[in-house]
Amino acid sequence: MASQKERRRKLNSSKDVSPENCVFCKIVGGSLPSFTVYQDNKYIAFLDAYPFSRGHTLVCPKQHGETIWDMNEEEIGGLFKVASMVSRAIVEATEADGFRFVQNNGEAANQVVPHVHIHTIPVKLSDKGKWMDRKQLSDDEMKDVAEKIIAELSRL
Ligand SMILES: [Zn+2]
Repeated sequence: MASQKERRRKLNSSKDVSPENCVFCKIVGGSLPSFTVYQDNKYIAFLDAYPFSRGHTLVCPKQHGETIWDMNEEEIGGLFKVASMVSRAIVEATEADGFRFVQNNGEAANQVVPHVHIHTIPVKLSDKGKWMDRKQLSDDEMKDVAEKIIAELSRL
């Protein structure tokens, strides 16, 4: 039986999906700056540059893959394990009341960067049901929230 990878349809067909031109691979490699809050050998978590809320973080495998179909079960499990751990620190750091995981695959699903990632978005009860817009925080605000998340992660 052909693997998922061989059989799959192209979900980001209008995009350059090569690792050489991948923004997240550049962040992993250190050639693009980011507010990284966590990393280990396989996974990295950094603040979204255009967050839906303060503390909105992206959790990614370091190895380039376009969609979740490019990962095996163990890798998917590891990714969600890291996202779950990081979400606790994000909720504490931002005094949120809950959080969203959003994992988009393909341009039809609004996947902007074709490198697998889980959006981890803290939400407050006061924002329940409200439409959230992306915004840009100042570098100082980004640094502040990143430091708070890192501090919370060290307490887990
Ligand atoms: Zn990549």
